[in-house]
Amino acid sequence: MSFISMPKNLRKNKADADSKGFVPKSMIDTLFDYKAFLDSSDSHGSIALKAPEQQKSIAVIGGGASGLVAAYELSKIDNINVTLFEAADRLGGRMDSVYVEDGDLNQKVFELGCMRFPPTSYTLYHYLNKFGLKATPNFPDPGKVPTELLYENKVIPWHAGQPTPSDKDFQRIGDDFNNIINFLLGDASAPDIENPSKLFDYWAIYQSDPSEQTKQKVVDAWQEILTQYAEVTYFDAVFKLAQNRSLVTRPWTQEDMNKFGALGVGAGGFGPLYGVDFVEILRLFANGWEDNQELLLDGIGALTQAFEFALLGAKTADGKPKVSIELNAKVKNISKSADKYELLVSNNGGRVVSSQFDSVIVATTTRAMEYMGLTIANDIGDQNCEEQQDLVSQGVKVAIRNLHLMNSSKFFVTTERKFWYPENNPQGKTLPFNIQTDELMRGLYCLNYDKDVDGKPNTQGKGVVLISYVWGDDSSKLLGLSPEERFQQFLPAIYAVNAEFAELLEKQTQKVSCIDWESTPNIYGAFKLNYPGQEQSNKDAFFQYQQEHLGLVLAGDSISWAGGWLEGAMPTGINAACAAAKYVGAQIIDNSPLTGISKDMYDYSLGENTAFCLLKDNGYLSAPSISAYQFGQGDFSIEATISTSSSGTIVGNKSTAGGSGGYLLVIQPDGSIKFATDNGQTYYQIESAPSTVVIDNTWHSVVAVRKDGKLTLHLDGKLLESTQSGASDQSPLDVSNRLDVLIGSVQQAQEPYIHYTGGITQVRLWRRALSEQEVASQYEQGTIIDKEGLVAHWPLAINTDDISENENNVSVNGDVSFI
Ligand SMILES: Cc1cc2nc3c(=O)[nH]c(=O)nc-3n(C[C@H](O)[C@H](O)[C@H](O)COP(=O)(O)OP(=O)(O)OC[C@H]3O[C@@H](n4cnc5c(N)ncnc54)[C@H](O)[C@@H]3O)c2cc1C
Repeated sequence: MSFISMPKNLRKNKADADSKGFVPKSMIDTLFDYKAFLDSSDSHGSIALKAPEQQKSIAVIGGGASGLVAAYELSKIDNINVTLFEAADRLGGRMDSVYVEDGDLNQKVFELGCMRFPPTSYTLYHYLNKFGLKATPNFPDPGKVPTELLYENKVIPWHAGQPTPSDKDFQRIGDDFNNIINFLLGDASAPDIENPSKLFDYWAIYQSDPSEQTKQKVVDAWQEILTQYAEVTYFDAVFKLAQNRSLVTRPWTQEDMNKFGALGVGAGGFGPLYGVDFVEILRLFANGWEDNQELLLDGIGALTQAFEFALLGAKTADGKPKVSIELNAKVKNISKSADKYELLVSNNGGRVVSSQFDSVIVATTTRAMEYMGLTIANDIGDQNCEEQQDLVSQGVKVAIRNLHLMNSSKFFVTTERKFWYPENNPQGKTLPFNIQTDELMRGLYCLNYDKDVDGKPNTQGKGVVLISYVWGDDSSKLLGLSPEERFQQFLPAIYAVNAEFAELLEKQTQKVSCIDWESTPNIYGAFKLNYPGQEQSNKDAFFQYQQEHLGLVLAGDSISWAGGWLEGAMPTGINAACAAAKYVGAQIIDNSPLTGISKDMYDYSLGENTAFCLLKDNGYLSAPSISAYQFGQGDFSIEATISTSSSGTIVGNKSTAGGSGGYLLVIQPDGSIKFATDNGQTYYQIESAPSTVVIDNTWHSVVAVRKDGKLTLHLDGKLLESTQSGASDQSPLDVSNRLDVLIGSVQQAQEPYIHYTGGITQVRLWRRALSEQEVASQYEQGTIIDKEGLVAHWPLAINTDDISENENNVSVNGDVSFI
C-alpha cells in the first residue's frame, strides 16, 4: 500500500528528518522498539535465553512475511523443530516478485504484492541488512518524479519535487490537508519540544528522554485521536475537519472532496479509502510509512529466498535439519486434543494427512484463518468430544470474521526499452514517469530495476511499467475483465494524458502480468484496513499472542497495526515466535513483546457517539451580540453539553471593565459549577457543591437558569444544590451588554478559569427560564420540548451554524475542531 504525496511538512526528506525532524522508532500503537529487541536477540543468539528442556514441535501455517519471520526466529532455538506449511507452490505470500529475463542485464521484477518500503520499517530493514540485501531510494512516487494527473478529462502537470499538481485548487487542498494533519498530529519535521501540545512533540521528547512520564504523554495524545476518530470514516473526518476555517483556506465542498479523492494515494487517490476508519489513515502518517520510499532492485523475492536458505540451513547440534518446509500443503483444519494441536493438511494431490504439534502459529490473512475453521467451536462435528475448547477467544473470533481487508489489483508490463527517458524516445523528451488518473486505471508507475550507473539512472534494458494499481471498488470493477480487455480499457486514459507515451507503451509492451488479490487463492484479500468501529477487534487480534494459556498463536498483516505494510506483518511474526516458544517451555529474553507491550496502554473501545466541537488551549467560539440576547433583568437559560478534564468557562458574556453587566457559566477546578450574573456594579452568583462530578472526560449536560432573579444549576437533568454569594438583594441584575457571547471563554480578566478545553456540543440560549421538569425531560429525551424563547442553538456537531431562527452563527477563534 502506498500514498502518493505526504503533507509537505512531514519529514520532507531523510536528511531533514535525521537532522531536525522526528522519525519514530516504533509504531504508535505498540511504542515497542522491535529493532532493539532483534539486536538484543542477535547478541543472545536467539530470542530465547533458555531453550525448552525437551524436544518440541511447532507448526507455522503460512510462508508469507510473518510466517517466515516466525519460523526463522524459532529455528534458532535449540530443542524446537519447525514445520512450515505453505498452501501455495512457493513461499512469500504477498511478497510476490515475478522475474522477467532481460538478456545480460539484471532480471526485471513485477512486484505483484509489496513494492515500496519506508526506512521506518525497522523489522524489515533488520532482515534486509542481515541477509545483505540493499534497498534503493528510487521509487517513483507521484511528485517525486515527473508526473501527470488526469482529472475529469483534464491533464494537470505535477512537477517533480512538488507535493501537489500545478493547479491552484489541488495546491489549496494539499496545503489544507497538510494543515489538518499538522493540527491532529503536529509537525514531524519540526516537533515543538519547548511547548509540546501534539503527538509528534510528545513523541520526540519521549524518544530523546524515555521515561514512563514522557511515554504517558505520547499515549495520551494518541488516545485522544483514538477516542475521537475510531468510529469515523476517513471521508467523514476529513470533510468535517475541512469545514473548520482555522484549518483550511475555505470550507471544502463536494467538489473539493472529489479532488482530494483523486490525490494522495498510490492506488489512485484517497477516494477508495474514504470508507475506512480515519484512525487507520492517521496511523500511516504517525508511523512515517509515507516517507522516503525505497525499492529492492532484486525484488522482495530475494528476501523470501534468503529466509528459505536460512531455514533450510538450520541444523540441530548433530546436524539434522531443524525446519521442514512443506509446499502445496494446505491446512484444512486445526483442533486441539489433550495438549497437542492436530492439523489436517491437504497436499497437492488432495490427500489429507494429519499431524500433531505442541504449538501452532497461524500466519495467514484473517480470511484464510476463517476458512481454516478458527471461528468454529472446536468440537463441532465431533459428538464424542466432551471438552469443548475454543482455539481462540470470542473477541478474536469476531476480529477474524470482521476485520476489513481491502481489495487491490495490479497490472504490470515489461517494455522493450525504458522509453520515458529522453535518450530512449524519438523526440528526446522526458515523458511522465508517473501518471495518476480518476479513470479506471488509476495509478501508473515507470519502474527502473537496474542499478544506477555513476550515480545516474541506468537507462538501458527493459522497462517495467505498473500500468494500473487500484484498490477497493476500482479493483472489484476490474474482476470481470481479461488482461487484454484491461489493457484496452486503460489505454485511452493514457493517450489522453500523453499520446507519445501511450504509443510507445502500446508498441513496446512485451510481457504482461496482473493480479487481483481478493481472488488470489489462500490470500483472499489485499491487506487489512479497518472499517470504523473495528479498532477493538484489531486490539483483540493483535494481542492474542499474549494469551499465555493458548498454544495456538496468530500472526500476519491482517491482525497487525499496519495492514498493507511488511512492517505490520513482520513484528507479528516475532510476537508469535516469542509466544509459541514460551508456550513450549523456552525462556524468552527480557524486554520482549511479551512483556514490553501493554495491551492496556490504549482504550480502543467505542465511546459515546457524539459529534462535537473540540476547544483546545486557546480555542473558543464567538457569537456577535444581537438584541435577542439582551436579557436585561429578565429570565434566561443557558444549556451546554460538555466533556472535559479541566476547569474553564463554558459560556461567557462579560468584560473586564465595570459599568455593564453580563453572565458566565464556569467549571471550577474542584468540580463545582459557577453561574454568575452581574450588572456592572454588583454581582450575584451560585456555585454547586465541589463534589459535582463534571471534570471526568465524559459527557454531561449543564443547564443554568435565572427565574425571577433566582439562579439554579442542573447537571444531567437534575437540579443541583448550590450556595449563593454576592448581592443579597435578589432582584434580578441587568445583564445586558453589547459583547459577543463567547463559548469556551470570557472576556473578563478577573475570572480565574477563562479557557475551556474539551468537547462541547448543543449550546443553547433561552430568553426564558426552563422549568426543572423541562430540563429533566430534555435531558432524558435528548430533544427540545418547546422552542418558545429559544434565541440561539449551536449544535456544534459539524459546523458553527446557529439553527435557531436568529441564524447567528458563531465564528471560530484559535484551536477549534469539529469532530
Ligand atoms: C497489492 C499490495 C501492495 C502492497 N504494498 C506494500 C508495500 O508497498 N510495502 C509494504 O511494506 N507492504 C506492502 N504490502 C503488504 C505486504 O505485502 C503484506 O503486509 C505482507 O506481505 C503480508 O504477509 P503475511 O505473512 O501477513 O501474509 P501473506 O503474505 O498473505 O502470507 C500468508 C501465507 O499463508 C498461506 N496460506 C493461507 N492459507 C493457508 C493454509 N490453509 N495452509 C497453508 N498455508 C496457507 C498463503 O498462501 C500465504 O503464502 C502490499 C500488499 C499488497 C497485497
